[in-house]
Amino acid sequence: MNSETHSTDSVQACQSCKQNFIVEPEDFEFYKKIDVPPPTWCPLCRNMRREAWRESHLLYRNTCKLCGKSVVGIHPAEDRFVVYCRECWYSDKWDSLDYGLDYDFNKPFFLQYRELMEAVPRPAMTGTSIVNSDFSHACVSCKNCYYTFWSLFSEDSQNCFALLFSRNAYDSYVTDNSDHAYETLHCNRLYKVRFGYFADNCFDSSFLFDCVGCSDCFGCVNIRKQKYCIFNKKLSKDEYLKQMEYWDLGSYKRLEEAKEKFRALYLSLPRRYAHIINSQNVTGDIIRDSKNCKSCFSALDDVQNCKYLFFGGLSLKDSYDVTGGGDMSELMYEIFGVTRSQRVFLSAGGGNSQDAAYCNWIENSSMLFGCIRLKNKKYCILNKQYAKEEYENLLPKIKKHMDEMPYMDKKGRVYKYGEFFPTELSAYPFNDSWAFTFSPKTKEEVISEGWKWREPQEHSYKISLEPENLPDHIRDVSDDVLKEIIGCIHKGGCNERCTSAFRLTSEELAFYRKMNVALPRLCPNCRYSQRLQWRNGYNLWRRSCMCEGKQSTNGKSRMSYTNTSVHFHGDGSCPSEFETTFSPEKPEIIYCDQCYKAEFL
Ligand SMILES: [Zn+2]
Ligand SMILES: [Zn+2]
Ligand SMILES: [Zn+2]
Ligand SMILES: [Zn+2]
Repeated sequence: MNSETHSTDSVQACQSCKQNFIVEPEDFEFYKKIDVPPPTWCPLCRNMRREAWRESHLLYRNTCKLCGKSVVGIHPAEDRFVVYCRECWYSDKWDSLDYGLDYDFNKPFFLQYRELMEAVPRPAMTGTSIVNSDFSHACVSCKNCYYTFWSLFSEDSQNCFALLFSRNAYDSYVTDNSDHAYETLHCNRLYKVRFGYFADNCFDSSFLFDCVGCSDCFGCVNIRKQKYCIFNKKLSKDEYLKQMEYWDLGSYKRLEEAKEKFRALYLSLPRRYAHIINSQNVTGDIIRDSKNCKSCFSALDDVQNCKYLFFGGLSLKDSYDVTGGGDMSELMYEIFGVTRSQRVFLSAGGGNSQDAAYCNWIENSSMLFGCIRLKNKKYCILNKQYAKEEYENLLPKIKKHMDEMPYMDKKGRVYKYGEFFPTELSAYPFNDSWAFTFSPKTKEEVISEGWKWREPQEHSYKISLEPENLPDHIRDVSDDVLKEIIGCIHKGGCNERCTSAFRLTSEELAFYRKMNVALPRLCPNCRYSQRLQWRNGYNLWRRSCMCEGKQSTNGKSRMSYTNTSVHFHGDGSCPSEFETTFSPEKPEIIYCDQCYKAEFL
């Protein structure tokens, strides 16, 4: 079979998971345009491989090897890396070209790259324009933030991930333009909202799912521009205020009761097949103001002609396989966390660069290959400076060498030119990386893949207060609680990087009091994992709308819903099909856009 002469789809078996995946004619065109071979890993394994190269939210004690300062950072002291504190790492007190290596044609490229990684200093934490935010990593322009990650232009927040222009946010995940937000996920424009999921432009409300433009609402799902609703029932102002006396979230017992009721309401109502807002010709989930995108997840604000994007946006064009990136970038391929760049491939971290491959944390550079932490450089390979002609001569030889002497990992997976870095050479154990958050695996699974696993650290502290001994109501909690080491109710028994205990900061306690919300009984890592259960993963299933005309039922969960309006398809079953992140096993009733709109908008 001479399949390469066919212009139709090509079916490939993934080198990693062994499942078949499809490379479409348009994909081949893209790979040709950027001159990389077609992938040998499926899209989801490729994403996991990139994620395995980025640290998540685990922090360790270490010492800066340059200034000797004690620091908290992403590498524990026992890692075999040279770690510098944030200030030293960004400073001009060292030169990354000092670590340059000659390319060795007797060794696979990836092994040489790993040698370079162990030589070039790594940051305890990254981030620029950070004020009073020592425990916050990979943030830009953040102030008074604690245990906050990958956030921009935010302040006075704790235990957050990916905040944008937000303040007074606690336990929030991907939350933009918000103030006084507690326990939120994929939200925008909130003020005084507790427990918000996919909520936009809402205030003075609690427990919202897919709500827009609401205020004074409690426990509501799929509602628009409403006021004084409790569990989707419209009330008079007086009746609302009366009932809200009961729903006092300062009490842990009441909070748990509300959570349960909210979850039951959520399951009883149809869900949109995907969160897609103001976008044309797109598939995936959580997409806003974008067009012509396939299999994109968390793609926000002007993403165009992209495929396999996971967390990205802000004017990202013509790119494939981007995880955490964008911001005025184009023609990017297999990158993690690269911004404001063009034609950067197979790289992680950095920005403002062009025509680079296999790089990590490069800034304002171009024509680089296999370089780590170079700034304002051109024509370098493995952190060694070349003349333009030398670079142009050597580069094709290296690519050829990568094909002739590829790296082979413990499981026999082969890495030629065009493959992202092997997971087993990552600086981070699998369960310390982003990959573990989005593709959790057990220790046994990770070890059997040949990847690294980090055992939980031995803690010297002793739990001084069991969670069941906390006062039920926040008003009965005294400042003495700040001295306590509170046990997490998961007691380390989950697979969520449970720290088994946690402390409260004074800012946190003040916030819980101000928001009148009961103290958490879970450690921040467990809370993080629980929060993420409100969003789906990255698999897409081709399914049909579950609307059957008058009524709809999910056979799996035996949930049923009676329509309140007449739909375009009348009394018969809805003929619409879509791609959704809801697997057929999920308990939710899934509607197409038209049926959802007929019921709720
Ligand atoms: Zn795969
Ligand atoms: Zn825990
Ligand atoms: Zn439908
Ligand atoms: Zn319908």
